[in-house]
Amino acid sequence: MRIQTFTVGGFQVNTYLITDEATGESAIVDTGETKELVDKLSALEPAPNVTKILLTHGHIDHAGALPLLQEKWDVPTYLPKAERPLFDTLPMQGRMFGMPHLDRPCGRIDHEIEDGAEVQLGETTLRFLATPGHTPGQGCYYDDNDIIVGDTIFAGSIGRTDFPMSDPSLMVESLRRLFELPHHLRVHSGHGPMTTLADELRANPFVGYLRKEHGVPAAPSIQWAPGT
Ligand SMILES: [Zn+2]
Repeated sequence: MRIQTFTVGGFQVNTYLITDEATGESAIVDTGETKELVDKLSALEPAPNVTKILLTHGHIDHAGALPLLQEKWDVPTYLPKAERPLFDTLPMQGRMFGMPHLDRPCGRIDHEIEDGAEVQLGETTLRFLATPGHTPGQGCYYDDNDIIVGDTIFAGSIGRTDFPMSDPSLMVESLRRLFELPHHLRVHSGHGPMTTLADELRANPFVGYLRKEHGVPAAPSIQWAPGT
């Protein structure tokens, strides 16, 4: 699977174009909240063969431009099922962030998916892992090498759990389930640089409890240095 990153919009969200190399089929993962992603993808040559849109969660920076994308690519669109109540607030989220021009219709969801679901992209099978906490239904899409995690985890940080509809205790459990996946997975987050599960398990300050559970020593930079 080939992964291209497009960082767009006022929130500098990472959106992804993922392509099954055997067939050339592509899916767009997340949208930004502006027309920027439509413009960037439209400028690609050759034009991508977009057959699906996948959403990690229903925050405006990740799902707000869905109707703009669907004007150009009228393709099946997937949302985590438990994310529906938040997704339905998208027009209100625009007003909440002081951007009333983002009060636009939500766009169309064709498939509401649940933990363990599989999405076929050409010959690539994407699996869906529900990781609620940052939002009620946020989830991750992964194959044998890569995982796209939305705002579940970032290089050195994790998604905020102080938003309306967040749940910190669900986040603790979701991160535990995330690190049950193979640690070689490359992690593509909703904001910031790429990382791996192994690197985060070693050094991310928010998953110290998982380091202990996995018996992984902390990175040298955060180990207690005697005499200091
Ligand atoms: Zn978010």
